[in-house]
Amino acid sequence: MAHGGGPRQVKLDRESELRIEVGYDAPLKLRLLSGTAEIFGTELPPDFWLTFPPRLKFAVFTLNGATIEMEGSTETEYTADETPNISYVNVHAVLEERRHRAKPLPPDDPNSQGPRVIVVGPTDSGKSTLSKMLLSWAAKKGWKPTFVDLDIGQGAITIPGCIAATPIEMPIDPVEGIPLDIPLVYFYGHTTPSNNVDLYKVLVKELAQVVERQLSGNAESRASGMVINTMGWIEGQGYELLLHAIDTFNANVVLVLGQAPMTVRIFLLNSQEKLWSMIRNVLKNKPGVDVVKLQKSGGVVSRNAKFRQKSRSHRIREYFYGLANDLSPHSNIANFSDFSVFRIGGGPQAPRSALPIGAEPAADPTRLAPVNINRDLLHTVLAVSFAKEPDQIISRKTITYLAPSAGELPSKYLIAGTVTWLET
Ligand code: ATP
Repeated sequence: MAHGGGPRQVKLDRESELRIEVGYDAPLKLRLLSGTAEIFGTELPPDFWLTFPPRLKFAVFTLNGATIEMEGSTETEYTADETPNISYVNVHAVLEERRHRAKPLPPDDPNSQGPRVIVVGPTDSGKSTLSKMLLSWAAKKGWKPTFVDLDIGQGAITIPGCIAATPIEMPIDPVEGIPLDIPLVYFYGHTTPSNNVDLYKVLVKELAQVVERQLSGNAESRASGMVINTMGWIEGQGYELLLHAIDTFNANVVLVLGQAPMTVRIFLLNSQEKLWSMIRNVLKNKPGVDVVKLQKSGGVVSRNAKFRQKSRSHRIREYFYGLANDLSPHSNIANFSDFSVFRIGGGPQAPRSALPIGAEPAADPTRLAPVNINRDLLHTVLAVSFAKEPDQIISRKTITYLAPSAGELPSKYLIAGTVTWLET
């Protein structure tokens, strides 16, 4: 399964894939020698060495057969001839038809909106991977679908703790990931929505409205539609948030990912079946919404809490330093008085005395609370607010902070959450 690192060739039969987890200490080089193959929807260029960073988990899939050459060690490396990829390609074909139908229609026709796909399912069911495949296949055909990432746990577009959207104009680079040229990002500040469910909903709504505005002025993007990636939290409040996202983004295709193929079927209602039937029941009165069950790939790697924490930390490091250490963030010293730091949410909106008798003060999920700058803020990831309103100055001490670039920050108002990062 693991490989020590010497040069080697792997011949892949049609409709099979080579599943790889790069070794922990060094990158892996890989190239396509013959045939055609793709990584999560993006075709490999022939005879061109690609370098994959340590720990990356991915698969090289071929529809018609290919030969791959590799150099470098791997933790895992095996060929699988049973994959759900053909069913994913079929989904893509249906979406493609809908895009073609939407394109010629005038903007005031509701059908001028291409497919709005939302991918749901438990953790480690391959949601991000399927989202990438659908986006890359669409981009390959010349569409410009919008990728919406509502998963604050890992952060496929920017860093964990954010929700974001960005147009995908080219198949996604299997090494670099989602392009970061023009993302629209909202900082939630926590890696689980339960910290402030209402704020999460407010931000999802805000993101949806801005995306909607952008799409309304662009027929091509509108016909291309969206692919929305969600969190793996599908029980209780997590399920409510999925319904909220479906409703807010007016999703019309819900893809429910679930169980891996099994030789022995389990007769208990599994989590995928349950989620699929619950969503289908809720949406049965909404015409034109398809709720589709899809098989999870056996190649999706399960990640425990410790691994997730590590990959969050890698993701934040990558944000500041770049994938190949090619960015140079700046360490700066500033006076405490140069910044005002806030947390969002918490305190009551109005005092009880100001409310009608019997009414309970409701917590305002977007209420700002000033934060004292002290040791508690060490290693906290802060977002720079676009707010222009002046606010109170806190004290006259200094802090050292890491910023993506040199020079002044665009604003002195910073937002803290619970996302932390310790540079190692
Ligand atoms: P989350 O629980 O964070 O929402 P998810 O359901 O989005 O996870 P993915 O991120 O798509 O799951 O997949 C989990 C990991 O498995 C990723 O590192 C991904 O690259 C890897 N992976 C997915 N499919 C395959 C495959 N066919 N072969 C090898 N690795 C794969």
